[in-house]
Amino acid sequence: MALKDYHHAWLSVRPCRTPEWLQEKLSEGFDLHHIDGDQANNDPSNLVLIDEADHHRLHNRPGWLRAALEDGRAARLARGKAERREWGVGRGEADL
Ligand SMILES: [Zn+2]
Repeated sequence: MALKDYHHAWLSVRPCRTPEWLQEKLSEGFDLHHIDGDQANNDPSNLVLIDEADHHRLHNRPGWLRAALEDGRAARLARGKAERREWGVGRGEADL
């Protein structure tokens, strides 16, 4: 699978990560999620690397309010180990 623009955007602010590393994580079951739900907003701050199971959960909850809350959670899932322990879910980029 070729990396897309948003993958390169995510990499652009993580000089310690290579395209090969990201490819490997994607093949291991991680996805990049657009925090604000706008697939065209490839600002690096809008992108988080999360477990694909968590990603599916985020997208399968109906309702924009729920989605907004869940998206906030996605960013925390990716960035904070303490939150994931508290909720007992997922893997995020802070673990990698
Ligand atoms: Zn998503």
